[in-house]
Amino acid sequence: MKIVRTVTGMSALAERWRKRSFRIGLVPTMGALHAGHVSLVRAASRECDRVVASIFVNPLQFGPAEDLARYPRSPVRDRAALARAGADVLFAPSAAEMYPAGFSTAVEVTGPLVARLCGPRRPGHFRGVATVVTKLFHAVRPHAAWFGRKDAQQAAVILRMTRDLSFGIRILVVPTVRERDGLAMSSRNACLSARDRRAAPVLARALRAGRDAIRAGARRPAAVRSVMRKVLAAEPRVRVQYLEIVNAETLEPIGKLRGRVLLAVAAYLGGTRLIDNLTMRAGHR
Ligand code: AMP
Repeated sequence: MKIVRTVTGMSALAERWRKRSFRIGLVPTMGALHAGHVSLVRAASRECDRVVASIFVNPLQFGPAEDLARYPRSPVRDRAALARAGADVLFAPSAAEMYPAGFSTAVEVTGPLVARLCGPRRPGHFRGVATVVTKLFHAVRPHAAWFGRKDAQQAAVILRMTRDLSFGIRILVVPTVRERDGLAMSSRNACLSARDRRAAPVLARALRAGRDAIRAGARRPAAVRSVMRKVLAAEPRVRVQYLEIVNAETLEPIGKLRGRVLLAVAAYLGGTRLIDNLTMRAGHR
């Protein structure tokens, strides 16, 4: 696996691949890789002739009070994991390479997709994500790019941006990979204390309880949220930031549970913020 650290180096390589009519796949990550990331790379390598995985801890998407400095990093393990998963290139630029002095441009998706969930709780976050993904798209020039459903709102934002700005890149969204106890894999899980790690699967349990309530016939979001809240309340270490049920495509609030819905939760365990979600079809009976 080749390691590329400059935008011009990456573009030149992509240009050569394009001349040979190779299909290029991109998997953007922030490193500290786990089986969720690996599933994205594997999915990309099944469909593409060349797969680029990027590792870039993007300062633009972290708020001033967030965990940029203590975001987990494991470059040596990551390289081995990517090579094993079938990546051809690791694109790992520095912050100065991505944002040289004078960098002043932002890409921003506006409206309902960012009005709820993580949008208001992490001001500037999705602007940082859209901006870095745009830069990665231009450097790698992929035909397709893979994202995880674990970050459902991020995937929705990227899809919207890719369509709105005519990037001509296929966006694929891959199911959430979980630990055996249900906890959604996340690089941030490494930041949890042993006791918080034991408490963390309650997020997934709450989502499943919500799903079960909907399957059992609950039709009001408030009723389902109260079922989920009860599950979460059993774990006093968890501080819930939001618990929402929205339309899975538009991310807008819904009055009645019908069609594809997204159940989403964000919570703190100690200083670590975790998110998780589940999509399902409601109102089929
Ligand atoms: P991150 O390194 O956390 O920025 O994530 C990089 C990509 O991996 C994003 O598209 C995430 O949605 C995806 N991802 C993160 N965790 C998981 C998971 N547990 N299952 C599947 N995809 C994931």
